Amino acid sequence: MSVVPPRQAAFLSVANLDETGAREDKALATEIMNYLRAFAVSHGVNSGHIRQMDERTLLLRLDELPREAFLQAILGMTEDSRNLKTPGNEQVPLKIRVGAMSERAMRSFVNDAAQDMLAYMNHADCASAFLTGDEIDIWRKFESSNIEFISHEQLKYLDPFSGLIKESRFFTLLQHILDDFEHCDPKARVLFFDIEDFKSYNRTFGLERGDELLLHVARTIKGQFPTDVVAHLSIDRFAVVTNSPDVMRKCAIIHEDTKAYHKSFAPEIKCGIFKVDPLVTSAHVALDCAKIACESVKGRYDVSCRIFDGDLRERLFTRRYVARHAEHAVSNQWIRAYAQPVVDTTTGEVCGFEALARWDDPNRGILSPAIFIPTLEEAHLIHKVDAYMVNEVCRHMSEELRSGRAVVPASVNLSRVDFAICDIFEIVRETCDRWHIPHHMLAVEVTEGALDGTANLRQEMDRFRAAGFEVWMDDFGCGYSSLNLLKDYEFDVLKVDMEFLRDMDANARSKTIVASVIEMAKSLGIRTLVEGVETEAQRDFLCDVGADMMQGYLFGRPLPLELRAF
Ligand code: C2E
Ligand code: CA
Ligand code: CA
Repeated sequence: MSVVPPRQAAFLSVANLDETGAREDKALATEIMNYLRAFAVSHGVNSGHIRQMDERTLLLRLDELPREAFLQAILGMTEDSRNLKTPGNEQVPLKIRVGAMSERAMRSFVNDAAQDMLAYMNHADCASAFLTGDEIDIWRKFESSNIEFISHEQLKYLDPFSGLIKESRFFTLLQHILDDFEHCDPKARVLFFDIEDFKSYNRTFGLERGDELLLHVARTIKGQFPTDVVAHLSIDRFAVVTNSPDVMRKCAIIHEDTKAYHKSFAPEIKCGIFKVDPLVTSAHVALDCAKIACESVKGRYDVSCRIFDGDLRERLFTRRYVARHAEHAVSNQWIRAYAQPVVDTTTGEVCGFEALARWDDPNRGILSPAIFIPTLEEAHLIHKVDAYMVNEVCRHMSEELRSGRAVVPASVNLSRVDFAICDIFEIVRETCDRWHIPHHMLAVEVTEGALDGTANLRQEMDRFRAAGFEVWMDDFGCGYSSLNLLKDYEFDVLKVDMEFLRDMDANARSKTIVASVIEMAKSLGIRTLVEGVETEAQRDFLCDVGADMMQGYLFGRPLPLELRAF
C-alpha cells in the first residue's frame, strides 16, 4: 500500500508590526522577514518552501514532514517565538503568531482560511493555533500543549475583521437557546451594544482609527464575556448571549473602558439587556427587545445600560402597531398639527410657533412623535407627514390672514429622510405658494442627523434660503459635530437643545456652555432660540445672557393648531 504524504502548511505572522516600526520602514520590514525565514529554517523548514504571503506573513509548505515531526516543529516554533527580538530594535520583542493547517484546511486556503485564522488568533491573542480538518484524532495527544485547536467550521462563522461570531451564526445559536427554553439557564440574557456617534468618530479621526476603536471595543466585550457567545452584528453593533450573574457590572466596565480609550472624544457605548423569557420565542424578537432597551438610553449622559422592562414592552407593541397602521394613519388624517409658541426674549411677546405632529389614534388616543416618527422614517412615509404638516400650517395661516387677524411666522420640522426620498423643497415651496403664504413666514428645522449624509444637502439648504425660507438648526449641541456644521452650513437660527437647561441648576457648566453658544452664534450673525424653558429662573438666565427667543412649557405647551390664535 502506498502512503500518500500529507499536505501540510504553516504560517508565521508578525502580530505587532506597528510597534516594531516595520510598517513605515521598508528596510526594517525586509530585515524582519529575513529574520523570520532564518528562524523557520532553524526549525527544519526547507528554505525553498517558504513564501511571503503579505507584509507581515510567511507561508511555510511542510508537505514532506511526517505529522509528528510537523507538529513538533509547530510546537518548537511557538515555544521559541517567545524569545524573538526585533532586529535593530532589541527593546521590542517580536510577537509572532504560528498557525498550522491540516490537509483538508489546506484545500480551502484559496478561500482565505489563513486570513480568517489570523483574525481569530489576533482576537483571541493566541500565539499558535491549529486549524483541524477531518483527521482531528491524530492531533488529540497534542491538545494539552499550548496550541489552540480550532475547527474549520468554527472559522466559517467568524467575522474576519473582529474575530467575533457573525450575525447569521448569532441568530442560529440564540434560536437554539430559545428553542430549548426549559433547559435554558434562568440567568440567560441577550445584550445589544451600540457605539454612539461612531460616524462622527470616523469622520473626525479617519477610517483607520475608526477600525482601531472597533477592534478595541470587540476585544473589550470579549474580554468581559470570554466564554460566551459574542457577535459582531454590523459596523458598530455587537451582541452577547450570557448566563453571567453580574452583567450590569460588566457592561459598566465596557462603557468606562470604551470612554477611556479616547480621552477627548470619549466614545459612548450603550447597552440594552433582554432577560430571556418564555413568551419570546424568536431570536430576532429577543434581539429587538435588547435593541429597544439600548435605544432608550441613546443620547443620555447619565445612563449607559438598560434592562428591557414593562414600559419598553409597551413601547415595542406600540411601535409594531404604528408600523402596521402607518399608511392608514397618513391617508386618513390620524395625524394632527399641534403648535407651541415661541417668545421674543426682549418683548416677552409671542413671535412665532413651532408645528409639532401628533398621531390621534381612534384606538389608542394621542401618540407622541417620539414613538411614531422613527417608525415612519423607517417606512419611508415621513415625507407624507411633513408635507401634510406644511399644508396644515399654511392653510391655518391663510385662514387667519383672510379673517384679518395678525399672524406670526411658523417653523416646521423636516426629517433627514425627506431629503432622500422626495424633493422636499419643491413640496414646501409649492404648498406655500398655493396658499399665498410669503416664504419668510416659514422656517424649516433640520437636525444634525439630516446633514451627515452623503447627499448634497448643502445645496438643498441653499435652495430654501435662496427662495426666502429660513433654515434653522434644531437640537444644537446634542450631537458631536454641531460646531463643525456651523462651519459648513449657513443657518438663520440655532435652536439650543433642551438638555442644557435640564441640569442648569445642578451643573454650573451647562450655564457656561449655553452662554458661550449664544455669544458665538451672535458673532456669526445667527439668532438663537433656547428650547425647553420650564422655570422662571431659566427664563431670567436666558434674558441675562441675551438669547433671542425662547420656547417651552413656561410659555405654553403644544396645542391643536386650530385652538391657537397667535
Ligand atoms: P423637537 O423638534 O426638538 O421638538 C421639541 C419637543 O420638546 C416637542 O416634543 C415639545 O413638545 C417638547 N417640549 C417643548 N417644550 C418643552 C419643555 O419645556 N419641556 C420639555 N420636557 N419638553 C418640551 P414632541 O412634540 O414630542 O416632539 C418630539 C420630536 O419629534 C421633535 O423634537 C421633532 O424632532 C419630532 N417631530 C415632531 N413633529 C414632527 C414633524 O411634523 N415632522 C418631523 N419630521 N419630526 C417631528
Ligand atoms: Ca424642532
Ligand atoms: Ca429641538
